[in-house]
Amino acid sequence: MADAVAPGDSAAARAGAFLTIDLGAVQANYRRLEQELGGVACAGAVKADAYGLGMGRVAPVLAAAGARCFFVALPDEGMALRQILAESVPDAEIFVLNGPMRGAEADYLAHDLIPVLNSLGDLDHWHAVAARESRPLAAVLHLDTGMSRLGLPRNELDVVAADHGRLEGLELRYVLSHLACADDAANPMNARQLEDFRTALARLPPAPASLANSSGIFLGADYHFDLGRPGAALYGVNPTPGQANPMRQVVRLQGKILQVREIDAPQAVGYGATHRVSRPTRLATVAVGYADGYLRSFSNQGIGRIGGVQVSVVGRVSMDLVTFDISAAPAESARPGATIDLLGPDLDVDELGRRGGTIGYEILTALGHRYHRAYLGG
Ligand SMILES: *Cc1c(COP(=O)(O)O)cnc(C)c1O
Repeated sequence: MADAVAPGDSAAARAGAFLTIDLGAVQANYRRLEQELGGVACAGAVKADAYGLGMGRVAPVLAAAGARCFFVALPDEGMALRQILAESVPDAEIFVLNGPMRGAEADYLAHDLIPVLNSLGDLDHWHAVAARESRPLAAVLHLDTGMSRLGLPRNELDVVAADHGRLEGLELRYVLSHLACADDAANPMNARQLEDFRTALARLPPAPASLANSSGIFLGADYHFDLGRPGAALYGVNPTPGQANPMRQVVRLQGKILQVREIDAPQAVGYGATHRVSRPTRLATVAVGYADGYLRSFSNQGIGRIGGVQVSVVGRVSMDLVTFDISAAPAESARPGATIDLLGPDLDVDELGRRGGTIGYEILTALGHRYHRAYLGG
């Protein structure tokens, strides 16, 4: 890699690491998911700042690729998104997964946010808001078919099924449910949830339906209904673990080397002296740490790439620093100011997640705010 800092770019010169987000890859991933959906509409989950990648940059790119439906977790995220899309896609449908937060009704109405109704209590509440407004209000109804997290459980569905009047005054855009094990295609729970969802839909007035997240989209057309709701796959996480990743990597993270040291006598590395160097070794100290979302669980587990070779984290990750054994790297790449790839095309978020005892989702949403960010394409 050439020097990451162009002459005169002092913001890059000051940064400890460079985060490059490939919006063209996000767009390509959206198209790939659309293709898998075979004509069924494809939403974009952009909650948590588009999984840490920046909703302000990601959402317009999804909209340009044709997305009209967006899922956020919280009304604040929805309000920000409405503003982001106000000019380009004024008719975007913005769904708030965490439901109609009590006391925030005016904000939902003012910004045209559609709550996902997650309980009978939510349903009755939104019904009352519609009555007070004397107009039908859009809503999504969430049925729990196996997560035991949000959504109407069976006994609450029974109540609505026996009395469709409870839906009066509501314009049901979708009835949705969420799969617990979609990333494990062989898990019998998928078919069980599908069956329960179909049975539940038959007990409700006809409405469009949605079941599949990223992985669910790859379970086949039975799971597609009227809307796919991918998040992670848009951002490069493999929706089909155990098989080749059909998505393009979106994120590249390059940590800047602050110091290189040659060690020729036995020595310990880092807090707790958890790594001991016992033979001649070249170490690089990189300006990234757990305060940047470079997880402490990468201590003695993480890997990076420099000069075409894989290198390992040695010792504990500290708040602002991490140390790599770069003995195997070409000497000319091992100098202060050069970078080590911490995430990228040859080092994907899923692999790094495994090494940190977590998943790619958490690696992305943990990405810190001290990185020098650049966006490609879009
Ligand atoms: C976050 C979320 C999604 C997107 O899930 P991915 O696994 O990231 O594709 C879809 N539906 C619901 C209800 C969610 O909470």
